Amino acid sequence: MERHKVPRTKELEFGGPLGALLLLILLPTTVFYLLLVCRTEQASLLSLPLPLPTLHSLWNPQDLALVLGWMGLQAVLYMLPTGKLMEGIPLRDKSRLQYRINGFHAMWLTALAVGAGLAAGLRLSYMYDHFLQLAFSAFLVAFGLSVLLYLKALLAPESKLALGGNSGNPIYDFFMGRELNPRIGTFDLKFFCELRPGLLGWALINTAMLVKETELRGSPSLAMILVNAFQLLYVVDALWHEEAILTTMDIVHDGFGFMLAFGDLAWVPFLYSLQAHFLVTHPQKLSLPITAGIIILNGLGYFIFRGANSQKNTFRRNPADPKVAGLQTIPTATGRRLLVSGWWGFVRHPNYLGDLIMALAWSLPCGLAHILPYFYILYFTGLLIHREARDERQCLKKYGLAWQEYCRRVPYRIFPYLY
Ligand code: NDP
Repeated sequence: MERHKVPRTKELEFGGPLGALLLLILLPTTVFYLLLVCRTEQASLLSLPLPLPTLHSLWNPQDLALVLGWMGLQAVLYMLPTGKLMEGIPLRDKSRLQYRINGFHAMWLTALAVGAGLAAGLRLSYMYDHFLQLAFSAFLVAFGLSVLLYLKALLAPESKLALGGNSGNPIYDFFMGRELNPRIGTFDLKFFCELRPGLLGWALINTAMLVKETELRGSPSLAMILVNAFQLLYVVDALWHEEAILTTMDIVHDGFGFMLAFGDLAWVPFLYSLQAHFLVTHPQKLSLPITAGIIILNGLGYFIFRGANSQKNTFRRNPADPKVAGLQTIPTATGRRLLVSGWWGFVRHPNYLGDLIMALAWSLPCGLAHILPYFYILYFTGLLIHREARDERQCLKKYGLAWQEYCRRVPYRIFPYLY
């Protein structure tokens, strides 16, 4: 095999080309189905047939321009020479890419721009009124971007391809993503999409839902405030710790194709905001004890999530850091060690556990009468179980016997004594 040439992908995920094709259809359908259900009075997943919008009513050039304008604004903020430059982890050819870490600045500048717009009379509730059209536009952008990424990857040298997106089957590779770190000059398309337009878009949509609720009922409800505050904390946290994304599976392992482009640009902003969306038309009253309980639950989830992620990131960056130096570890043949006490000795994915506890706290303000606002935690449990299994396979390959030893000493994957 020629040096840096990427081998054909043999182990196919998501059921191979057929699974990828089904997901290409299923993911957009799911978003639309849930958004349509959310806008019905019963908000019941079984209330079929749904009043289906026509394609003509979904297509609105102004909304497409808004989505593109939003992405353009985020791209300009991404290119500002603020923040620090960080290196990603070494690539297969041992080179390292540089990334500009200025997401937190972008968030503040976006908040200022939105605040100024609101003060000048911007009607943010337009987003609620045109939600389906905006979602449709985001689909088109994600699909268009995926096509461009696929074509770009055809011209890229083999050394730039992701190991998982080179099966030779165009549907599978289009879905999984062929190129690992597609860039235009220094503009990293995957890194940009992972945390900027979609994540900030999610916070913007939540705000728009709060504004809409205020227009309808005079003031935002406690439930809406909780959902907004919890999810804003999550977004702010992700941007504050932006550099942590450089070691995630998405950046290190997965190519940039439809799966990530659609996830980042359409799925996250339009579905993760489902609880706030639901509350606009299905108001909930929360008692103070219940509110306190939900806040404590979110705090507990955040404590575990942040504690676990920070502990691993600190350890990976500098194992001699006094915050982690006292933890027990297992040596591996690669020279890297695995934590086996602290959060990572509790379960093998404590960060997923914390994330799922928060997910529950985001749904509870929507009451117990509907399953729809619980979609996020149900889907997220599935996603993290699947992600955990993928990660375990990769860690077993990477660390072999040391990983087996880790699994023996820390037997539970995500939920202590359960799984
Ligand atoms: P993780 O942060 O869980 O990283 C997994 C990697 O950590 C492994 O590949 C291994 O890499 C390292 N690792 C595993 N065990 C140990 C150990 N005992 N000691 C030291 N290192 C270890 O990856 P994710 O990208 O899946 O998750 C990051 C965060 O993002 C999580 O909090 C997750 O919940 C969240 N997330 C949120 C999503 C959302 O949609 N809201 C979607 C996906 C993730 P190595 O050894 O090479 O360092």
